[in-house]
Amino acid sequence: MPDNANERMDKLTALCKRRGFIFQSSEIYGGIGGFWDYGPLGVELKRNIKNAWWEDIVRKRDDIVGLDCSIIMNPKVWEASGHVGGFSDPMVDCKNCKARFRADKVCTVTFHDGDELLLHVGVEGDTENLKDVFDAATAKANSKTRRRIEKAGENLKAECWRADRQAEVALLCPNCGGGLTEPRQFNLMFETFIGAMQDSSSKAYLRPETAQGIFCNYKNVLDTTRIKLPFGIAQIGKSFRNEINPRNYTFRSREFEQMEIEFFCHPNEADKWYEYWRDARYQWYVGLGLTSSKLRLRDHEPDELAHYARACADIEYEFPFGISELEGVANRTDFDLSQHQKFSGRDLSYFDDETKERFVPYVIEPSGGIDRATLAFLCEAYIEDEAPDDKGQMQQRTVMKFHPRLAPIKLAVFPLVKKEGMPEIARRIYEDVQATGMTAFYDEKGAVGRRYRRQDEAGTPFCVTVDGQTIEDRTVTIRDRDTLKQDRIPADEVVAYVRQRLG
Ligand code: ATP
Repeated sequence: MPDNANERMDKLTALCKRRGFIFQSSEIYGGIGGFWDYGPLGVELKRNIKNAWWEDIVRKRDDIVGLDCSIIMNPKVWEASGHVGGFSDPMVDCKNCKARFRADKVCTVTFHDGDELLLHVGVEGDTENLKDVFDAATAKANSKTRRRIEKAGENLKAECWRADRQAEVALLCPNCGGGLTEPRQFNLMFETFIGAMQDSSSKAYLRPETAQGIFCNYKNVLDTTRIKLPFGIAQIGKSFRNEINPRNYTFRSREFEQMEIEFFCHPNEADKWYEYWRDARYQWYVGLGLTSSKLRLRDHEPDELAHYARACADIEYEFPFGISELEGVANRTDFDLSQHQKFSGRDLSYFDDETKERFVPYVIEPSGGIDRATLAFLCEAYIEDEAPDDKGQMQQRTVMKFHPRLAPIKLAVFPLVKKEGMPEIARRIYEDVQATGMTAFYDEKGAVGRRYRRQDEAGTPFCVTVDGQTIEDRTVTIRDRDTLKQDRIPADEVVAYVRQRLG
């Protein structure tokens, strides 16, 4: 990570801890790698993301229904899905420092000037993004080599050798430059046992994705609702993967939450629905505030596709630690339903009453991670700018510019001073807002400027202050987090004002 990106990530993680967005799991015992807890502000943010998804995907549509499946399922599910045996990322180890890397996320870069080898280094990162990889390699060169690289001009031959593909050079460790092992498989599913006996007959798994619960209930949903093709089933829930290398804060965790849709359609319509979901899912993130050029949609190259997938695109975000996947949208054909048909012996085909056609539907799967979305919204929201203090002097401030729909607290209410009846009026406004179901915060401690700062860091879009004038004419000031503009409005219009702006 470049220094300023490192610094930005450090500042964000410090703020998340200080203000109660994210804590390390079991911190008082030294933590546990790959597991995270969401604090009072973080849990509201994450819940708002889940609620936004559920409202937009399930409640506002009549072609999608919801589901909530068990985490532990019959182990045969995971044989059918290909997870038992197949669900593992090939890994490579450094023979020298013993660091372990996902083979598709580490490569070795060589730079030649004509026939002369200028640089030969290991680099970690998304090898789909060659510019970043070459920049990272150049950053590892000493200044003399860097000058040679710059001077080589058109003679420069830059090559990137992925650790999971055939390479014509020795593959090197990004940490220490030592040699890497061949890629090896590691099963990523957490195992557990059901009942008293702990043997192979009682072995079960914590689900590594929520999708399979949907496929297993596809027939139940069809039989119990009036829904007809094309339709989707949506689920939000925890998934578990024993990631070899959890890192980048919450980005790669061992326990995480997914929001998945399986959208069933006629095979002839699958391309159309794939396009639809690919664009709709991208726009969903934009609509909730990921508006910067950091968000992008990347279509997979044909050689990246899983053997059963016909098309796949990743919605990616440029985190300070690199460009990484938030959500994948794939045309999974009839692979999953056909597999479950084969392994369960149940008929999972669909009969179209109108055309009298029987077929196994194709599936379009938009599969997103809530923790990754939360992290992207946190990164995007984090802004450092200037705001006036109590004396009107401009001071640096840190502000979390969350989309109002996602902000953990919608409104804070302050009495200017703790006397002259101001706390009572402020408290009443606070209670009125709370009664509507909106999250609100009451604060009467310290200078008003400091109270604003605290709310800026929490990402609260509106702050109401009850002051001397309120006692005279029942008006209050309401301050906008982003524009810093203060409006004076009647105290009994606060709820309507905030509601209107929350959309
Ligand atoms: P990656 O290549 O980053 O491991 P993936 O392609 O294996 O991800 P999928 O199996 O497609 O991921 O899972 C769907 C979504 O679930 C991902 O887009 C991501 O948002 C989320 N997800 C997957 N693994 C993790 C993890 N270890 N921690 C947090 N979120 C995850």
